[in-house]
Amino acid sequence: MSTIFSKIIRGEIPCHRIYEDEFVLAFLDIFPLSPGHTLVIPKEEVARVDQLSDEAAAALGRVLPRICRAVSAVSGTEDYNILQNNGAAAHQAVFHVHFHIIPKPDAERGLGIDWPSGKLNEEGAAQLASRLREALGSS
Ligand code: 5GP
Repeated sequence: MSTIFSKIIRGEIPCHRIYEDEFVLAFLDIFPLSPGHTLVIPKEEVARVDQLSDEAAAALGRVLPRICRAVSAVSGTEDYNILQNNGAAAHQAVFHVHFHIIPKPDAERGLGIDWPSGKLNEEGAAQLASRLREALGSS
C-alpha cells in the first residue's frame, strides 16, 4: 500500500512538517478546516487504525497529546477535535492512517459535526457488549 503520504514521508513531496520521530510524522493539512489543522501519521504504511502494529499505535499515542498542546498553544484555540476516518464510507480519502487535529476557534471554523444519535436499548446493549467482549478476547 502506498499513498501520497508515503511520498511525504520519503520527502518526495513537500509538506510543512511540525514533528518527526522514528515512527511518526506530523504536518499541516493542505486544505485546513481552521488555522493549525494538522495531520499526524504513522510511518507504517497501513490504511486503517485496526491494521496498526502495537509499536506504531503506541508511538502515535505517545506524541498525540504533545502535538495537540502545540497546536492549541500556537493557534490560540483551546478547543479542538481529533478526527480519524477509516474507509471510504467513513470519509477517508487518503488510505494511510492519519489523525486530524482540528482547532475549533468558533462555530463557523473547524470541524462541523452531524450527530444523528439514537437511544441505547438496554437488552440489545447487554448482548452487544457481551459480543464485543468476546471479540476483544479473540483479537
Ligand atoms: P481524510 O478524508 O482521508 O481523513 O483526509 C485526508 C486529508 O489529507 C485531507 O484533509 C486533505 O486535505 C489532506 N491531504 C491530502 N493530500 C495532501 C497533501 O498532499 N499534503 C497535505 N499536507 N495534506 C494532504
